[in-house]
Amino acid sequence: MAYQTTNPYTNEVVKTYENATPEYVEASLAKAQKLYKDWRNDPVSSRIPVLHKLAQIFRDETDSLAKVLTTEMGKLYVEAQGEVVLCAMIADYYADHAEEFLKPRKIDSIAGDAQLENHPLGVLMAVEPWNFPYYQMMRIFAPNFAVGDPIVFKHAAITPGSALAFEDAVKRAGAPDGALTNLFLSYDQVSKVVADKRVQGVALTGSERGGTAVAEVAGKYLKKSTMELGGVDAFIVAHDANMADVNAIAPRARLYNAGQVCTSSKRFIVTANHYDEFLASLKDAFASVKLGDPMDPSTTLAPMNSKKAKDKLQAQVDEAIAGGATAYFVHDAVDSDGQFFLPTILTDITKDNPAYGKEMFGPVAQVYKVADDDEAIALANDADYGLGGIVFAGSAEYGAELASRIETGMVYVNTFFSSLPELEFGGVKKSGFGRELGQNGISSFVNQELVVKRDRPNDDETGGLVLPHKFS
Ligand code: NAP
Repeated sequence: MAYQTTNPYTNEVVKTYENATPEYVEASLAKAQKLYKDWRNDPVSSRIPVLHKLAQIFRDETDSLAKVLTTEMGKLYVEAQGEVVLCAMIADYYADHAEEFLKPRKIDSIAGDAQLENHPLGVLMAVEPWNFPYYQMMRIFAPNFAVGDPIVFKHAAITPGSALAFEDAVKRAGAPDGALTNLFLSYDQVSKVVADKRVQGVALTGSERGGTAVAEVAGKYLKKSTMELGGVDAFIVAHDANMADVNAIAPRARLYNAGQVCTSSKRFIVTANHYDEFLASLKDAFASVKLGDPMDPSTTLAPMNSKKAKDKLQAQVDEAIAGGATAYFVHDAVDSDGQFFLPTILTDITKDNPAYGKEMFGPVAQVYKVADDDEAIALANDADYGLGGIVFAGSAEYGAELASRIETGMVYVNTFFSSLPELEFGGVKKSGFGRELGQNGISSFVNQELVVKRDRPNDDETGGLVLPHKFS
């Protein structure tokens, strides 16, 4: 597919880009590899000022950077501004903490003076999605820049402008040539880059489909990888939940970013005593959203990212209804050619329904009624994915007890799901493996090199069982 910016609100084709030539790909990898070798001799501290400067650029240019996002994938301008500010926070976070996170760790050992040193691993290939075009990039760029791993990346075909804007900001922040290079690659070219012997790690954020394809190539060529994939996150309303709080948060948990968030609440699992009230309230909230120009501050629901995504979601909803689900609510039609999906609430989804356990990536809520909290947990866990989740319960402690029983990567109790620089992000099952952000997010592509040193060989006989025997 060609790399193209198409405004999903106006349908205007803004710009089309050519794929990278093999020569450009080769030159980019060579530059990145050279930088990796140079960086091995530089301390982490030498890279920190670039991250602070990058954060400053994202703060100073919030509005213009946000506009690129809204034009390309349609998100509300106010949400785009929020994404840009979050990027600045991530860059500053790793600038402030990278040295501490990457300092050698002493190990108490009879073998000698032992320590784990954190060295760069090499050139990384990143493959990123369109739903948070800058934030996804910053999650991988900031920590690995601090480590000293140069990155080549392939962004989504529909967000080439965001890819270029991000690359440009990194250059203007003073990053050396080769630190981050955008490549407009076909899928075949991605495989070739992953296979290249200079590339030592692969990070993908995207769907199970994309993750499976890229992880397969990474596995074949023995490249370390992290996979941040999709989810069917549960929003559990426990028997003793505070319904005023639930009703305030639930619509946002589904509709934020037009429902196109990996950790959007996709399955609302509601105990029977709250079910009717929950449905009525969600319906009112969905009915009251204002679909319109994403640049207009009074708009509360943006178009989807593309016609393709909208059509795919419509097909999923149609299949669900044909399979026996009830369309409990569908928003009134809007007078616009923009790629709007009308907020929809589905109920009566049985286990044999095609929608059961499937990710619906847009403003569609699946609502399930359960007898009690145990049944809620069982239903939440009856999924191939395990990314995030939200639990509303009568107290933080009880909510946390329920949260621990969910097979998933992240859970928020009695509050909205949010992503922050210091909080590890990632999932289990088909939601992928590895973590981004937080302290773990800086350790994925690090060579934890063990160095054991002594002035003379170890003569300590107590080590005889575990150390090689002396030859006499
Ligand atoms: P996608 O189709 O997998 O695309 C993601 C990226 O992978 C894009 O750059 C895409 O390129 C590329 N890609 C897809 N198939 C590929 C292949 N065979 N070889 C090489 N590259 C390939 O995902 P999406 O549907 O655009 O994004 C939404 C999905 O991402 C949802 O499932 C969502 O839950 C998930 N997501 C997860 C996280 C997380 O942190 N866990 C965060 C955000 C989104 P093209 O654009 O050229 O196809």
